[in-house]
Amino acid sequence: MNNKIYVIGHKSPDLDSVAAAITYANLKNKISNTENYVPAVAGEVNQVTKFILEKYGFEMPEILGTAKNKKIILVDHNEETQVVDGGNEAELVEILDHHKVNFSYSDPIEILVKPWGSSNSIIYKKYLENNIEISKKLAGLMLSAVLDDTVITKSPTCTEIDKIIIVELAGLAGVEDWKEYGMEMFKVKSSVADFSAEEIVKLDYKDFELGAGKFGIGQVETVDLSEFDGKEDDLIKGMKALQEKENYHSVVLLITDIINEGSRVLIVTNDQEKCEKALGEKIVNNKAYVKGLMSRKKQIVPPFTEIFSK
Ligand code: MG
Ligand code: MG
Ligand code: MG
Repeated sequence: MNNKIYVIGHKSPDLDSVAAAITYANLKNKISNTENYVPAVAGEVNQVTKFILEKYGFEMPEILGTAKNKKIILVDHNEETQVVDGGNEAELVEILDHHKVNFSYSDPIEILVKPWGSSNSIIYKKYLENNIEISKKLAGLMLSAVLDDTVITKSPTCTEIDKIIIVELAGLAGVEDWKEYGMEMFKVKSSVADFSAEEIVKLDYKDFELGAGKFGIGQVETVDLSEFDGKEDDLIKGMKALQEKENYHSVVLLITDIINEGSRVLIVTNDQEKCEKALGEKIVNNKAYVKGLMSRKKQIVPPFTEIFSK
């Protein structure tokens, strides 16, 4: 009999979604006293995720090609467009997430969604509630995920609870200066010199189905915006190709400067005027700069949903 339940994050996996698969599967195994819960990923993981998994000695979770006829727990997402292939033919067991809720399912299932800065913050609290020990390496993984998702607490998605959790996890992980540690991590994330335009756009990329059509929104966070100088025209060309090939209404890339707290926005769209309204900035040659823009989830998805759903 196959009792396997895959714990899996979103497509185009980021560190929080991969770490959540590992940390939540471990928690579920500990609570149930089984090995039934298996962490999985919905695609190749990014460079910072590889770096952190290696650093703390975690195995790369298996890539689940299709979830068809499998039992799955979704972590760090719930929108159908972001679920692993075959997800609509899988048996959905549970959802743990920190994004807006946009899904439906035929059966009642357990859902835990909190408006916190990362899925691993929610999972950390579940460890405490269940009295399950958090090893040093597990704490290191969770800490890294929370710091990544909250952009070292600078993102408007970061709550007071996340800040407390970061301090507690840093203590458990033996990390003395979590700010410095976070900056080191973002330096790894910022090195895009070896990536092609399409790889950069798809590094951290999510699809959203809005009334007007399909929107693809990518984000790269950098400690050094100049890494992207001279790359922008190539990026825009790649985004145009993607728009045509996959029939997008708009493809947006946020290049977020985490030091100066703002984003260079590259955008190819069928409706520039509405995009300008959503951004609150003029778009010139497919580019805009938006001061203070750090979060796709809080600062891009809501105004785009508002303006393009009508
Ligand atoms: Mg995520
Ligand atoms: Mg997350
Ligand atoms: Mg992120």
